[in-house]
Amino acid sequence: MKDFYRRVEFTPAWDRRDPDPSKDYGVSGVSIHFSLVGENGAISWEIMTSWVLPSTEEMWKSKGLGHFGLFKPTAGGVGFHYPPEREDLDYLEIGPCNLLGECRCDVGFLYGNTMMQRLIEGGEDTLWAEMIQAYESMALEEDE
Ligand SMILES: [Zn+2]
Repeated sequence: MKDFYRRVEFTPAWDRRDPDPSKDYGVSGVSIHFSLVGENGAISWEIMTSWVLPSTEEMWKSKGLGHFGLFKPTAGGVGFHYPPEREDLDYLEIGPCNLLGECRCDVGFLYGNTMMQRLIEGGEDTLWAEMIQAYESMALEEDE
């Protein structure tokens, strides 16, 4: 098997509401980020949980949204992080990347639902297997 490194990170919840609409960034729960990094690029995927700060719970309750505990986590898109040298993908702009330094990134939004399904049905091992499969789909086309 190829050499990968796997990373799981939890980003804290935040409450950045502001009466000034230009400064109002809303609220967010904890996000869980899964990353698989290899020598040919990286795959990332995140889950947005409904684990929120007490101030967010209070706001939801005040609006009659008392069933916050029933909110389901939401699947984010799957990020395909290609090395900048991949000129066959020059339709993807090069940008800063927290996994590769910089990359050409593409996102599969619906594919995130597949990742969620893998995690729910098979746990961590099944999720990483799907992420490895996604990684392998990034390989360069062989000589034509
Ligand atoms: Zn990237």
